[in-house]
Amino acid sequence: MIDKLALIFGSKTKAQEMVFLLHNVKNVVRQGFYPSELGRVEEFCKNNNLYLVKSKFKVLVTNDHIYSNKGLRIDLDDTREGMYFTYISKDEKTALLASYDELTGNDYELGLVLGYPSCCVQFFCRHFNEKNPDLQLPATNLFTNLTARNQDCVLLSHFPCSSDCSESIRIAEHYAALLKSIDLQRYQKMITLLQFPSQ
Ligand SMILES: [Zn+2]
Repeated sequence: MIDKLALIFGSKTKAQEMVFLLHNVKNVVRQGFYPSELGRVEEFCKNNNLYLVKSKFKVLVTNDHIYSNKGLRIDLDDTREGMYFTYISKDEKTALLASYDELTGNDYELGLVLGYPSCCVQFFCRHFNEKNPDLQLPATNLFTNLTARNQDCVLLSHFPCSSDCSESIRIAEHYAALLKSIDLQRYQKMITLLQFPSQ
């Protein structure tokens, strides 16, 4: 199932987030898409009664656009190829709110709207900056393990404030349980990869 959706969304991690959204374990997702990808994403959202709000700016992709929101912003009429951010939800107000919080640079409210634990949102706001864009911590358990995110294999979409953050673990356990019930193959691959981190 995830593999099939990845053809629309461009990665398994993005497809997985959409599954979490459709199963109500996420309220809103924030994903970047190139103009060439947007058409099929918008069509999927329309067919599944999801609201999609598109950012009023484009972002030049850095090596880690999913976890950070500080990519270089450019105007929509800039000819460089940037990604649009999209905010997708079953609830129009939530999608609009996420879009507004990002547009106004309110990282704290954006993190909360996206459903991240407040301890982790505070951690992000305190520590993230252009010189320190990667807040990944050494892995201590598979749930908060971000080490395989570049291999398209991760449960969380935020930086946990600690690898033992109980709120993050609770959320990731929830995601893992859902994944197990809807795509056993993806679940097993993920558990194997995240249980024995390479670092
Ligand atoms: Zn936390």
